[in-house]
Amino acid sequence: MIQLLFRSKKKASALFLALTLVAIILAVFTGGFLRTPQNRFLIIRVDDIQDFAFREGQLFLLKQSVEANYPLSLAIIAGMFGQDAEILEAMQLAVASGCEVGVHGWKHENIANFSKNEQMTILFQAKTRIKELLGINTRLLIPPMFSFDSNTISAMHEESYTIISTCADLHEPSSISGIKNIPATVELSNLVNDIWQMKSIDAISAEAEKSVELYGYAAIVTHPQEFISNGQMNHIAIESYINLLVKLSETWQFTTFENLNLQK
Ligand SMILES: [Zn+2]
Repeated sequence: MIQLLFRSKKKASALFLALTLVAIILAVFTGGFLRTPQNRFLIIRVDDIQDFAFREGQLFLLKQSVEANYPLSLAIIAGMFGQDAEILEAMQLAVASGCEVGVHGWKHENIANFSKNEQMTILFQAKTRIKELLGINTRLLIPPMFSFDSNTISAMHEESYTIISTCADLHEPSSISGIKNIPATVELSNLVNDIWQMKSIDAISAEAEKSVELYGYAAIVTHPQEFISNGQMNHIAIESYINLLVKLSETWQFTTFENLNLQK
Protein backbone atom coordinates (compact mmCIF):
# COMPACT_ATOMS: atom_id res chain seq x y z
CA MET A 1 0.00 0.00 0.00
CA ILE A 2 2.72 2.43 0.95
CA GLN A 3 4.34 1.89 -2.42
CA LEU A 4 1.13 2.95 -4.12
CA LEU A 5 1.23 6.24 -2.27
CA PHE A 6 4.90 6.88 -2.77
CA ARG A 7 6.71 6.59 -6.02
CA SER A 8 9.80 4.86 -4.75
CA LYS A 9 10.78 2.35 -2.10
CA LYS A 10 13.28 4.93 -0.89
CA LYS A 11 10.57 7.41 0.03
CA ALA A 12 8.52 4.67 1.68
CA SER A 13 11.43 3.58 3.83
CA ALA A 14 12.23 7.20 4.71
CA LEU A 15 8.63 7.60 5.89
CA PHE A 16 8.84 4.36 7.82
CA LEU A 17 12.02 5.60 9.52
CA ALA A 18 10.40 8.94 10.37
CA LEU A 19 7.31 7.24 11.82
CA THR A 20 9.51 4.93 13.86
CA LEU A 21 11.41 7.91 15.25
CA VAL A 22 8.18 9.69 16.15
CA ALA A 23 6.95 6.52 17.86
CA ILE A 24 10.17 6.23 19.85
CA ILE A 25 10.05 9.90 20.90
CA LEU A 26 6.39 9.57 21.95
CA ALA A 27 7.16 6.41 23.91
CA VAL A 28 10.05 8.11 25.69
CA PHE A 29 8.03 11.19 26.61
CA THR A 30 4.76 9.58 27.59
CA GLY A 31 6.21 6.46 29.17
CA GLY A 32 9.72 6.54 30.48
CA PHE A 33 10.46 10.24 30.66
CA LEU A 34 7.49 11.23 32.79
CA ARG A 35 8.27 8.50 35.27
CA THR A 36 11.91 9.40 35.79
CA PRO A 37 12.82 10.42 39.35
CA GLN A 38 12.89 14.10 38.33
CA ASN A 39 9.10 14.24 38.53
CA ARG A 40 8.61 12.22 41.70
CA PHE A 41 9.57 14.19 44.78
CA LEU A 42 10.26 12.61 48.11
CA ILE A 43 11.19 14.29 51.38
CA ILE A 44 12.69 12.63 54.43
CA ARG A 45 11.90 14.62 57.57
CA VAL A 46 13.79 13.93 60.79
CA ASP A 47 12.02 15.26 63.88
CA ASP A 48 13.45 15.92 67.36
CA ILE A 49 16.97 17.10 66.49
CA GLN A 50 18.43 18.20 69.87
CA ASP A 51 21.50 18.10 72.10
CA PHE A 52 22.58 14.98 73.98
CA ALA A 53 19.61 12.75 73.09
CA PHE A 54 19.66 9.64 70.91
CA ARG A 55 23.00 10.98 69.68
CA GLU A 56 24.05 7.88 67.79
CA GLY A 57 20.77 7.94 65.87
CA GLN A 58 21.11 11.63 65.04
CA LEU A 59 24.76 11.34 64.01
CA PHE A 60 24.04 8.31 61.84
CA LEU A 61 21.21 10.06 59.97
CA LEU A 62 23.19 13.28 59.48
CA LYS A 63 26.43 11.64 58.36
CA GLN A 64 24.66 9.16 56.12
CA SER A 65 22.81 12.00 54.38
CA VAL A 66 26.10 13.78 53.65
CA GLU A 67 27.90 10.62 52.52
CA ALA A 68 25.10 9.32 50.31
CA ASN A 69 24.36 12.86 49.08
CA TYR A 70 20.63 13.26 49.60
CA PRO A 71 18.96 16.06 51.58
CA LEU A 72 17.02 15.68 54.81
CA SER A 73 14.50 18.07 56.31
CA LEU A 74 15.71 18.48 59.90
CA ALA A 75 13.27 19.56 62.62
CA ILE A 76 15.25 21.21 65.44
CA ILE A 77 14.09 21.76 69.00
CA ALA A 78 15.80 25.15 68.92
CA GLY A 79 16.00 25.87 72.66
CA MET A 80 17.64 22.49 73.23
CA PHE A 81 20.24 22.80 70.48
CA GLY A 82 23.76 24.21 70.18
CA GLN A 83 25.51 22.92 73.32
CA ASP A 84 26.36 19.48 71.92
CA ALA A 85 29.42 20.20 69.80
CA GLU A 86 29.33 16.93 67.87
CA ILE A 87 25.65 17.27 66.96
CA LEU A 88 26.19 20.94 66.05
CA GLU A 89 29.12 20.12 63.79
CA ALA A 90 27.21 17.29 62.09
CA MET A 91 24.28 19.67 61.56
CA GLN A 92 26.55 22.33 60.06
CA LEU A 93 27.97 19.77 57.61
CA ALA A 94 24.47 18.52 56.74
CA VAL A 95 23.24 22.05 56.05
CA ALA A 96 26.33 22.78 53.93
CA SER A 97 25.53 19.72 51.83
CA GLY A 98 21.91 20.75 51.16
CA CYS A 99 19.81 19.68 54.14
CA GLU A 100 16.90 21.88 55.16
CA VAL A 101 16.22 23.02 58.71
CA GLY A 102 12.87 23.68 60.33
CA VAL A 103 11.73 24.80 63.79
CA HIS A 104 10.34 22.04 66.02
CA GLY A 105 9.38 24.34 68.88
CA TRP A 106 11.64 26.00 71.45
CA LYS A 107 11.39 23.26 74.10
CA HIS A 108 9.13 20.84 72.20
CA GLU A 109 6.09 22.60 73.65
CA ASN A 110 2.53 22.28 72.35
CA ILE A 111 2.49 25.73 70.78
CA ALA A 112 -1.30 25.79 70.38
CA ASN A 113 -1.45 26.15 74.19
CA PHE A 114 0.13 29.61 73.96
CA SER A 115 -1.19 33.06 73.05
CA LYS A 116 -0.36 34.59 69.70
CA ASN A 117 2.29 36.84 71.28
CA GLU A 118 3.87 33.91 73.10
CA GLN A 119 3.89 31.89 69.89
CA MET A 120 5.55 34.80 68.09
CA THR A 121 8.25 34.80 70.78
CA ILE A 122 8.81 31.07 70.33
CA LEU A 123 9.04 31.39 66.54
CA PHE A 124 11.33 34.43 66.77
CA GLN A 125 13.70 32.89 69.33
CA ALA A 126 13.88 29.63 67.40
CA LYS A 127 14.67 31.15 64.01
CA THR A 128 17.22 33.51 65.62
CA ARG A 129 18.97 30.59 67.31
CA ILE A 130 19.08 28.66 64.04
CA LYS A 131 20.42 31.69 62.18
CA GLU A 132 23.17 32.15 64.77
CA LEU A 133 24.23 28.51 64.84
CA LEU A 134 23.66 27.38 61.26
CA GLY A 135 23.66 30.64 59.32
CA ILE A 136 20.34 30.10 57.57
CA ASN A 137 16.96 31.81 57.58
CA THR A 138 14.40 29.09 58.15
CA ARG A 139 10.79 29.62 57.10
CA LEU A 140 9.64 26.13 58.00
CA LEU A 141 7.66 25.21 61.13
CA ILE A 142 7.25 21.57 62.15
CA PRO A 143 5.08 21.96 65.26
CA PRO A 144 5.67 19.44 68.07
CA MET A 145 2.85 16.90 68.38
CA PHE A 146 1.64 18.28 65.00
CA SER A 147 -0.35 20.80 67.04
CA PHE A 148 -1.12 24.34 65.94
CA ASP A 149 -4.02 26.82 65.86
CA SER A 150 -5.06 30.00 64.06
CA ASN A 151 -2.70 32.03 66.31
CA THR A 152 0.16 29.90 65.00
CA ILE A 153 -0.72 30.84 61.43
CA SER A 154 -0.86 34.55 62.37
CA ALA A 155 2.42 34.28 64.30
CA MET A 156 4.02 32.57 61.29
CA HIS A 157 3.05 35.50 59.07
CA GLU A 158 4.49 37.97 61.60
CA GLU A 159 7.77 36.04 61.81
CA SER A 160 8.08 35.35 58.06
CA TYR A 161 7.49 31.60 58.14
CA THR A 162 5.90 30.26 54.94
CA ILE A 163 5.53 26.47 55.34
CA ILE A 164 4.03 24.31 58.09
CA SER A 165 4.59 20.55 58.05
CA THR A 166 2.51 18.30 60.29
CA CYS A 167 1.14 14.83 59.55
CA ALA A 168 -1.30 13.97 56.75
CA ASP A 169 -3.39 11.82 59.12
CA LEU A 170 -4.37 15.06 60.88
CA HIS A 171 -4.02 17.76 58.24
CA GLU A 172 -4.12 17.09 54.51
CA PRO A 173 -1.96 19.26 52.24
CA SER A 174 -3.52 22.68 51.75
CA SER A 175 -2.95 26.39 51.98
CA ILE A 176 -4.02 27.90 55.31
CA SER A 177 -4.42 31.68 55.05
CA GLY A 178 -1.42 31.92 52.77
CA ILE A 179 0.77 29.43 54.72
CA LYS A 180 1.59 26.27 52.79
CA ASN A 181 0.73 23.11 54.72
CA ILE A 182 2.91 20.25 53.44
CA PRO A 183 2.51 17.38 55.92
CA ALA A 184 4.51 14.19 56.25
CA THR A 185 2.55 11.44 54.49
CA VAL A 186 4.42 8.26 55.50
CA GLU A 187 5.77 7.20 58.89
CA LEU A 188 8.99 5.20 58.67
CA SER A 189 8.27 3.13 61.79
CA ASN A 190 5.44 1.95 63.99
CA LEU A 191 5.61 2.44 67.74
CA VAL A 192 4.49 -0.87 69.25
CA ASN A 193 4.54 -1.23 73.06
CA ASP A 194 7.01 1.68 73.27
CA ILE A 195 9.37 -0.01 70.79
CA TRP A 196 10.00 1.48 67.36
CA GLN A 197 9.66 -1.01 64.53
CA MET A 198 10.67 0.08 61.06
CA LYS A 199 8.16 -0.88 58.40
CA SER A 200 9.28 -3.15 55.58
CA ILE A 201 10.81 -1.58 52.49
CA ASP A 202 7.86 -2.81 50.43
CA ALA A 203 5.33 -1.32 52.86
CA ILE A 204 7.08 2.08 52.86
CA SER A 205 7.41 2.07 49.07
CA ALA A 206 3.71 1.25 48.71
CA GLU A 207 2.73 4.07 51.10
CA ALA A 208 4.95 6.49 49.18
CA GLU A 209 3.28 5.46 45.90
CA LYS A 210 -0.14 6.04 47.41
CA SER A 211 1.00 9.43 48.69
CA VAL A 212 2.26 10.62 45.30
CA GLU A 213 -1.04 9.54 43.73
CA LEU A 214 -3.06 11.40 46.35
CA TYR A 215 -0.91 14.48 46.92
CA GLY A 216 1.70 14.66 44.17
CA TYR A 217 4.64 14.03 46.56
CA ALA A 218 5.68 11.81 49.44
CA ALA A 219 7.23 12.86 52.75
CA ILE A 220 8.54 10.22 55.14
CA VAL A 221 8.90 11.19 58.80
CA THR A 222 11.36 9.56 61.16
CA HIS A 223 13.04 10.25 64.52
CA PRO A 224 16.59 9.52 65.70
CA GLN A 225 15.17 7.29 68.43
CA GLU A 226 13.92 4.86 65.78
CA PHE A 227 17.56 3.83 65.24
CA ILE A 228 18.27 3.10 68.91
CA SER A 229 17.19 0.11 70.92
CA ASN A 230 18.06 -0.44 74.57
CA GLY A 231 20.43 2.51 74.40
CA GLN A 232 22.42 0.95 71.56
CA MET A 233 22.48 1.48 67.81
CA ASN A 234 19.83 -0.68 66.19
CA HIS A 235 21.83 -2.22 63.38
CA ILE A 236 18.83 -3.94 61.85
CA ALA A 237 17.03 -0.60 61.53
CA ILE A 238 20.14 1.06 60.13
CA GLU A 239 20.70 -1.61 57.49
CA SER A 240 17.05 -1.54 56.56
CA TYR A 241 17.10 2.27 56.23
CA ILE A 242 20.19 2.19 54.00
CA ASN A 243 18.58 -0.45 51.78
CA LEU A 244 15.37 1.59 51.69
CA LEU A 245 17.25 4.66 50.44
CA VAL A 246 18.94 2.67 47.69
CA LYS A 247 15.56 1.36 46.56
CA LEU A 248 13.81 4.74 46.77
CA SER A 249 16.60 6.53 44.89
CA GLU A 250 15.82 4.40 41.82
CA THR A 251 12.41 5.98 41.32
CA TRP A 252 12.31 9.13 43.47
CA GLN A 253 14.08 12.45 43.59
CA PHE A 254 14.92 13.47 47.15
CA THR A 255 14.10 17.06 47.95
CA THR A 256 13.16 19.47 50.78
CA PHE A 257 9.90 21.18 51.70
CA GLU A 258 11.19 24.55 50.47
CA ASN A 259 12.26 23.14 47.13
CA LEU A 260 9.01 21.22 46.74
CA ASN A 261 7.12 24.43 47.43
CA LEU A 262 9.10 26.19 44.68
CA GLN A 263 8.32 23.37 42.23
CA LYS A 264 4.57 23.61 42.73
ZN1 LIG B 1 8.85 15.93 68.17
